Amino acid sequence: MDITTSLIVILVLYGVLLFFDNFFKTCAHYPYIKFLEGTGFEIKFFSIKWRTKAFNRLLIRWGNSNLRFFDWWFTAGLYCTLWFLPIAIILMLYSVFQNFLTTRDQQILIEPVVPGVNLPASELGYYSCSLIVCSIIHELGHALAAVLDDVNLLEVGAHVFFVLPVAYVNLATDKLFAVERKKTLRIICAGIWHNLVLSLIAVIIYLLLPSMFSIFFSVNKGVTVSQIGKNSPIFGHKGLVTGDVIYRINDCKVFDEDSWYGCLSRVKKQQAAFCINHDLIRSLDESVPLKHSDNGKLDCCDGAKSENFCFEHLSSNDDDVLELPNHACLPARKVIEESPNICTSSPHSCPINRFCFRPILNNTASIMTITCRNKLVIYLGYPEDVSRSTEISSYIPKLFFTSPFLPDLVTKFTMYLAFISFGLAIVNVLPFVFMDGQYISEIIVDILLKKRIGNKKCKLIVGVVTTLFTLMLLLHCLYFFYNKIFV
Ligand SMILES: [Zn+2]
Repeated sequence: MDITTSLIVILVLYGVLLFFDNFFKTCAHYPYIKFLEGTGFEIKFFSIKWRTKAFNRLLIRWGNSNLRFFDWWFTAGLYCTLWFLPIAIILMLYSVFQNFLTTRDQQILIEPVVPGVNLPASELGYYSCSLIVCSIIHELGHALAAVLDDVNLLEVGAHVFFVLPVAYVNLATDKLFAVERKKTLRIICAGIWHNLVLSLIAVIIYLLLPSMFSIFFSVNKGVTVSQIGKNSPIFGHKGLVTGDVIYRINDCKVFDEDSWYGCLSRVKKQQAAFCINHDLIRSLDESVPLKHSDNGKLDCCDGAKSENFCFEHLSSNDDDVLELPNHACLPARKVIEESPNICTSSPHSCPINRFCFRPILNNTASIMTITCRNKLVIYLGYPEDVSRSTEISSYIPKLFFTSPFLPDLVTKFTMYLAFISFGLAIVNVLPFVFMDGQYISEIIVDILLKKRIGNKKCKLIVGVVTTLFTLMLLLHCLYFFYNKIFV
């Protein structure tokens, strides 16, 4: 089932759930109401809420199991989070300036992520799973720190907004703000601290993955085609299929995912030239007098054979010019197959008896030779079509029965975990309304200024700061999406 169909199915399921929920509630269907109360489920407009007290005892037991360690752990978390706050402010301000001052295609340091807009629909699963893991770890921080400081744990739960799940924990707010201010701050900072630690662990695992998988996979020695669309112009037995191992595009070495995209963009910028055998040119040349085609480019073929292309001679050596014509009409596939050497870059040097020729193409398409493990693929078309329709992996299976699916899945998941966990830490530490940062700023201002300027002015300062930051975030998101969608 593709991603669009899956989303439609989920949409229909929500519709059915909402209908029956409304129906049973209107006719006060007792077993259904009892079921909702017993399980803690609540069905809302395209969202499902679930809450339970079942984990309270476990969390309390866990929090009390090693009080000395947790005391040290969450105190360290408090100081790290307070150090992280100015860093997050600088990162946020930098991203806002980037957003408003740089061009559309430039990557912004902190950008909102919305599935379908700047997150490929195919990666929604990674996004949702990472989000639930990051929010569980975040809430676990609040819960354990609360247990440590004797703040009552009311319930834990999860809220699924369409397909995006987040966990939450409810604490006794009156008790949370009644304990010593440093302890309140420690409980509020605990979630952010856990997200920072999770992000760091994910980055370390991400960096160690190539060595961890090195028994079964070669890494950084080429790429494997992990998926290719049936409609891809390069799909097929003469083109690429799933499992092909690619080492080179023209003369550009492919050793990982980044170099694959780098080589494709290089192909787009510079048309490849090939070292063609002298005898081959002499025997296959079918050139006619030069003419200009409709788009102003030179053409030396009569157009009768579609496989023929007009090649121009590139030479840094004047003697070559005397030996060969400046233009030759040659069957592209045949001569390229016979010409393993590429001479795209100046001085266009070739082995003895071979001469550098470049095909003149009538449009912006490119000729690519893709060197695979057991074959050479020759492709005439647009490099963007190749990058769009193929998914590749930096892992090359060493054994014939392994595919790069597992390392790719773990790599992507740890990458999402690192980014989303760090993103959650930033969103929660900054003074945005209703987020942890609002309470953090309230307590910091309270500790630093209450004695000098009084409670009222403290509240005013926090109100102004949180409103400004929230407005800045809103503007940042709105301008970002405006740029993505309309510009
Ligand atoms: Zn929190």
